[in-house]
Amino acid sequence: MPHFPAPITSRLPAVGTTIFTVMSRLAQECRAINLSQGFPDFNAEDLLFERVAHHMRAGRNQYAPMAGVPALRDAVAAKMVALYGTAYDPETEITITAGATQALFTAVAALVHPGDEVIVFEPVYDSYAPAIALQGGVVRRVHLVAPDYRPDWTAVAAAISPRTRMIMINTPHNPTGMVWAPADLARLAELVRGTGIMVVADEVYEHIVFDGRRHESVARYPELAARSVVVSSFGKTFHITGWKVGYVAGPRELMAEFRKVHQFNVFTVNAPVQYALADYLAQPERYLGLADFYQGKRDYFRTALMGSRFDLLACEGTYFQLASYRRISDEPDTRFVERLTREAGVAAIPLSAFFEDGRDDRVVRFCFAKEEGTLAAACERLRRC
Ligand code: PMP
Ligand code: GLN
Repeated sequence: MPHFPAPITSRLPAVGTTIFTVMSRLAQECRAINLSQGFPDFNAEDLLFERVAHHMRAGRNQYAPMAGVPALRDAVAAKMVALYGTAYDPETEITITAGATQALFTAVAALVHPGDEVIVFEPVYDSYAPAIALQGGVVRRVHLVAPDYRPDWTAVAAAISPRTRMIMINTPHNPTGMVWAPADLARLAELVRGTGIMVVADEVYEHIVFDGRRHESVARYPELAARSVVVSSFGKTFHITGWKVGYVAGPRELMAEFRKVHQFNVFTVNAPVQYALADYLAQPERYLGLADFYQGKRDYFRTALMGSRFDLLACEGTYFQLASYRRISDEPDTRFVERLTREAGVAAIPLSAFFEDGRDDRVVRFCFAKEEGTLAAACERLRRC
């Protein structure tokens, strides 16, 4: 193929390939146990596959309605009212998306104007800043403070300006596993009161919170819900990250703007999968056991790393465990994970990948959404480090 004949001015000059792709590729190349990119190594229930096959055979293979299959939007609304006490109108306030990544991107594209400031919390999930930059928005970063990575509300208050359009939050938090407390939502509500600031709440790990904690969805707080787009993903909840289906919920004024963009960047999402998810979601036991399920894996992983030279940080939710490796090495985290993958045979994510300035706390992220056998084998290798 001949080369493109002119220089290209990149819209994202500082962006390369995502760390998740880089580390999963290296894990494969080295035949390492892959605890880097976040995805389960076990399958979803057969029932879910049966429902997809059923709806395909029943002929539900053409375009679904733009905002999503009504039965699935109804099921999401019912779940949100049952769990968080807020009634979203499925007709105007819920939209089914191609996963959370698209939902986040579309929300930013629909609501952020060039020059608007958007506050994010660092370490920050990797898709937020590029989405903001592509709209001509200005990213304002507020650090979550090590070692517990809780929000510093004085710093958030200082970051708010008359140009602040949006605050993007994420609880339970990837990569730190930190979960916001009711006081955090109260502080957020206080700071945005009387402003036009919108909130995008990335709650993809809403069902994965540990030790009896409660997930503090913005949907629980009417004052916040009225200015928020809530984002979730069936990938995390039903062990189907590869299906890329999620949803957003928000007040109709924000949803109307969201849908203006959604209709042109995906139009609509895989129809038979939506019908199957509607059947499945109607049974709350399919997701209500998720916290216990993953708490068991967290505890297994943490116990199996006792006696290693990794120091484990607190993990209140998500399926990620942070670990400091200062007792093993003082090398930069990117070099450490490469060596860990090549020499110890376990892949992890360097925490610096979630900081714009490459800040390096000598901490790595492990994903424990794995079969016990996988975790046991990985921990045996990690204990030798
Ligand atoms: N937000 C966070 C915090 C995530 O961890 C992920 C994926 N792991 C996403 C968004 C994207 O979700 P999806 O795969 O549904 O696009
Ligand atoms: N969200 C997943 C993680 O944090 C990865 C998703 C992706 O590869 N983009 O590992």
